[in-house]
Amino acid sequence: EAKLHELSFCIFDEQLERKVSAERHQTERFLAALEKHELTIYLQPQIDLKSGECVGAEVLCRWFDQELGTVKPDVFIDIARKQGVLAELGIQVLSKTTEVLRKWQRDYEAIPKVSVNVGAQQFTSPEIVEDFLYCIRDVRPEQITLEITESDLMVDPVLALTVTRRLRDHGFKLAIDDFGTGYSSLAYLQQFAVDILKIDISFVQAMLRDEQSKTLVNTIIAMARSLGLETVAEGVETTEQAALLKELGCHFGQGYYFGHPVSPDDFEKQWLADKKA
Ligand code: C2E
Ligand code: CA
Ligand code: CA
Ligand code: CA
Repeated sequence: EAKLHELSFCIFDEQLERKVSAERHQTERFLAALEKHELTIYLQPQIDLKSGECVGAEVLCRWFDQELGTVKPDVFIDIARKQGVLAELGIQVLSKTTEVLRKWQRDYEAIPKVSVNVGAQQFTSPEIVEDFLYCIRDVRPEQITLEITESDLMVDPVLALTVTRRLRDHGFKLAIDDFGTGYSSLAYLQQFAVDILKIDISFVQAMLRDEQSKTLVNTIIAMARSLGLETVAEGVETTEQAALLKELGCHFGQGYYFGHPVSPDDFEKQWLADKKA
């Protein structure tokens, strides 16, 4: 019996070892890709629910590796966080975004605003505001919305408050991402002087089959309106969801129903073609 145990521990050890070494390999390749600036960005349209116009785009980071293939952002963002390089990733994403905005400003009359995701770890870098401003240079901060999750704001609320205030003073817009999934009250979040609430995908996708989710979505929209905030619904996948959100007074929708995240070139072709200057 003892032997059998030993054997199963052996197999378990081997599996664990294989998993650990695969993760280490993935981490090494990620760090190399970051070093070589190989990460790219995709853009997903944000639609004005009343007019049907594309008025914004969320920037989503992408990593394609020759050997590992496409690795999901949830996976490599987690690696970046653990390796302490999320700020570096953030700057690379912001520079790529700036390149896109510069081109759009040259070629189009009216261009959508862009939203960039910012993680808690980025707040701890002391030069974050200066780095952001240097990175975007001639592009106006007003063109850029920074998306921060409720839980990331709460990692270090005092620091987050200081940094978001400074960013906002320079003209960046502020959005709370995945809104409704955290534990903080909106009254508390109001201190952050946010401009936009992004209603979490889970409520949007449940609201047609679950009365509670619908009530929650309705309440978030009503609350946001009374506070003068804009609302974006995430993960809109069907006509019915889009129609209900519009009826409830949500301003903007984002999701596969309107468009998937695509490369900057494809985004231009699909969403800006009729706006040539
Ligand atoms: P997120 O900020 O909540 O981004 C929205 C995610 O929902 C994206 O996943 C997007 O592709 C996906 N999505 C959009 N529409 C739909 C839909 O209709 N249905 C469904 N099921 N999903 C939809 P993605 O691109 O895999 O990114 C995952 C997460 O990784 C993001 O969640 C964000 O937290 C993080 N992330 C991505 N890029 C960056 C970045 O540049 N910096 C940081 N800090 N985080 C990033
Ligand atoms: Ca986001
Ligand atoms: Ca989100
Ligand atoms: Ca999310």
